[in-house]
Amino acid sequence: MVTAFNILYSAAAVRRLLGLNSSVPIQLKKFAWVIWVWVKGRRPTFISKRVFLQHFVEWRKAQSQGLRVTQRLDLANHYTVRNPRQNTAYLVEQRADGFFCTCDDFNNQLEFFTRGCCKHGYAVLRRLGLSSLNEYLQAQKISRFPRVHEAVAVYAA
Ligand SMILES: [Zn+2]
Repeated sequence: MVTAFNILYSAAAVRRLLGLNSSVPIQLKKFAWVIWVWVKGRRPTFISKRVFLQHFVEWRKAQSQGLRVTQRLDLANHYTVRNPRQNTAYLVEQRADGFFCTCDDFNNQLEFFTRGCCKHGYAVLRRLGLSSLNEYLQAQKISRFPRVHEAVAVYAA
């Protein structure tokens, strides 16, 4: 089960970060700035929360490679993102505040972080020629200015 803790600080993330075999037992405990990590047969160690956060984003960006993005002609600002290897497809909506996906990962991020971006969202971002969600959000703020001017023009008329 995905929780507010293990969505970010998971044994799977530790295995990927440390290049470990997928069957090795791992335990994690949360401290102020770090996560205490115990791997069977090794001395306990600490991994900073920042490293987990960075990995969280980088892993999803890496996983977005190979996904196929198709813009929906029947739905404005929507994309279908397919994973040809797993034969799955998710609907992603492009909004001013991000890319809203129908997958579990995105909905878990919404629940625990109140915002997020899944591999499907990163695939759409790449399709739009952007490399990060921040780049997109900043561009959205800039593109909002003309709308403000329009509103001013309406009131002034
Ligand atoms: Zn998704």
